Amino acid sequence: MTPPLSSSDAGAELDPPRRRTRQALVCWGERRVSVGGDAPVRVQSMTNTDTVDVVGTAIQVKELAQAGSELVRLTVNTDEAAAAVPRIREQLDRMGIDVPLIGDFHYNGHLLLTRHPACAEALSKYRINPGNVGKGDKKDRQFGQMIEVALRWQRPVRIGVNWGSLDQELLASLMDANAALAQPRDARLVMHEALIRSATDSARRAEELGMAPEQILLSCKVSTVSDLVAVYRELARRCDYPLHLGLTEAGMGTRGIVASTAALAILLQQGIGDTIRVSLTPQPGEARTQEVVVAWEILQALGLRSFTPSVTACPGCGRTTSTVFQELAQQIDRHLRQRMPQWRVDYPGVEALRVAVMGCIVNGPGESRHADIGISLPGTGEQPAAPVFIDGEKRHTLRGEDIAAQFTALVEDYIGKRWGSGSVPRG
Ligand code: SF4
Repeated sequence: MTPPLSSSDAGAELDPPRRRTRQALVCWGERRVSVGGDAPVRVQSMTNTDTVDVVGTAIQVKELAQAGSELVRLTVNTDEAAAAVPRIREQLDRMGIDVPLIGDFHYNGHLLLTRHPACAEALSKYRINPGNVGKGDKKDRQFGQMIEVALRWQRPVRIGVNWGSLDQELLASLMDANAALAQPRDARLVMHEALIRSATDSARRAEELGMAPEQILLSCKVSTVSDLVAVYRELARRCDYPLHLGLTEAGMGTRGIVASTAALAILLQQGIGDTIRVSLTPQPGEARTQEVVVAWEILQALGLRSFTPSVTACPGCGRTTSTVFQELAQQIDRHLRQRMPQWRVDYPGVEALRVAVMGCIVNGPGESRHADIGISLPGTGEQPAAPVFIDGEKRHTLRGEDIAAQFTALVEDYIGKRWGSGSVPRG
């Protein structure tokens, strides 16, 4: 006999609480993007244009913002790039794009932010890599100069540690201390400690210099999943700053997507991570916006946020030998993505829509009933008719060569009725 479910069964763990953090605000004009606290997990991305190319960079920022990036980071590495930043900001403002821009600084950030006040003002947040602010006694001074600019312009900072540019002096001192132990720890654990200490020590230094804790975000990026999970779990245990989460140098294509998803999903499911970036290397010809799409898909798959209506499609099998349902699923998905920018304006809440496109009678009607609107296509040997289910009930049967167009029209009609201005709000 099956025992009854108790409160300790798996269902009790479905929605683990988010880690409690402070909340940072990243603003531009009227646009206020809160990160941490009770804010939703934010999606951010980074341009790969030459920042000196004002028009090209502004266009890419616009594309990333329209794809759903709520913050966009730019490389600021030279005087020319720093001079271009306010012009990029102006261009975006003229285009009506108010996404906050983040400056990514290494080595010379103290000089660029001091020499180019218009750049410091145009940026809404500064990323400081404590491994790349200078060595020896210069390090504290140059870090302090960047914090001074952040205080002057009242900008938050991300103290962004990366194991590819980890503070070597700190790592060496921790390695020496470890070697002196009777039972030295694994070198990998010492490296984890160096990453965390680099971030938390720098945050404490920034607070000593006058930064409010609410103006500080942290990240400790590495490029392997297990190290990232271990480092962030420990970082989250030790501090309450909002955390920027991402697997650095995740790689190309499927590999990069899978590695990022694996790492981020584990941590997000544990309530760790307040803003995410998926660091994908674009395939030749691939849009930069792919990393934004993947970030949203991760959040959506985890049930943390909704951005685009979801399309449930079966994988197909020997019961359906045609590609009709694959093509229909693809067409519907493409149609939903193309229409979303306008739908978001016309139909607030439409991102919660669930569509099902199924290949045959085995799971088709059942899965379609679970969706808001679903179609069950005929499998091999089945009647050439496709029942459509709306809100769990069979409402139509589509036939003919243009089933895709008919179904798309039904989806449009459903959205208009459910989320249009004259619609009746549900439950
Ligand atoms: S719904 Fe039908 S076609 Fe799709 S995977 Fe299941 S059995 Fe195969």
